[in-house]
Amino acid sequence: INCIGILTSGGDAPGMNAAIRAVTRAALYEGIKVKAIYRGYKGLISGEIKEFHTEDVSNIILRGGTILKTARCQEFVTPEGRKMAYDRLVEEEIDALVVIGGDGSLSGASVFSNEFNYPVVGLPGTIDNDLYGTDITIGYTTALNTIVDAVDKIRDTASSHDRLFIVEVMGRDAGFLALNGAIATGAEAAVIPECKYGPDQLMSSISHGLRSTKNSSIILVAESEITGGAMGVANLIKDRYPDYDVRVTILGHIQRGGSPCATDRIIASQMGIEAVRAILEGQRNVMVGIMNGEVVYVPFDRAIKGNKPVGDNMLNALAILSI
Ligand code: ADP
Repeated sequence: INCIGILTSGGDAPGMNAAIRAVTRAALYEGIKVKAIYRGYKGLISGEIKEFHTEDVSNIILRGGTILKTARCQEFVTPEGRKMAYDRLVEEEIDALVVIGGDGSLSGASVFSNEFNYPVVGLPGTIDNDLYGTDITIGYTTALNTIVDAVDKIRDTASSHDRLFIVEVMGRDAGFLALNGAIATGAEAAVIPECKYGPDQLMSSISHGLRSTKNSSIILVAESEITGGAMGVANLIKDRYPDYDVRVTILGHIQRGGSPCATDRIIASQMGIEAVRAILEGQRNVMVGIMNGEVVYVPFDRAIKGNKPVGDNMLNALAILSI
């Protein structure tokens, strides 16, 4: 291996820059050339590629987003598009690829790696924490902290007005942000795709809270077709219980932004170094994860189809703590 390519793809996540920095420096440390590919698979196909030196990744560890930009790329979903991507790698003399991205990006990496027998190692870069085989993904902890900050502020106004706030958070089809955000903010309930509350069950936990010492309620809802999002949940509650003063807040893209927290910087740094080591060891078609503090290599097909469980113990914790 003389040259490693690196790209970020799909949704951006805080800590991606720390990962780019770690991959770049770990490769240079081993005497391997690094080529940065801009705009994910799109830039790979069109050839937006630049050689990186150590100074190209200076002062980026603290920055949110990704200096390599990211994109979604329909062409890469087709065999013709992937062939163009492969030809570009050959032309640029890139011998292995590190892909930093979520579920979709690693699915693409897996298809590509199998199709051309080409070494690709993935890093879990997504705020959703929905990749199996790693305790946390790069960006998840920062996003969770952003949610906690925002919901704490909403609590002030909710308790001043005795209101019920429904707050929608990201997560796609995974409830980690909603469930753990709810636990961390003392919210009364979380509506997550993994475990849908019926409206009665939901209202009983809220009214229980209101009857005791609480004068406000907050419910976190994971954005998802299954939950119906915050609007869906709010409408359900308003229909059944028109007396409640229900307000909806959708946190949206602030959840993706901001400087990565220490945890994200550290796991991104560790995973980035391990990605280079994995390539040198001859690994391919794997995602680097961290389980119980240990670095693990997870085959792509397990990482992406894993249905990572949110954990019954955390669901119980919320139920116990919101009485
Ligand atoms: P994320 O990585 O954040 O989950 P997406 O789901 O949007 O983001 O995927 C990012 C890109 O990965 C897509 O735009 C596409 O180019 C590529 N991709 C996703 N799924 C596949 C697939 N099954 N085959 C090939 N490429 C894919």
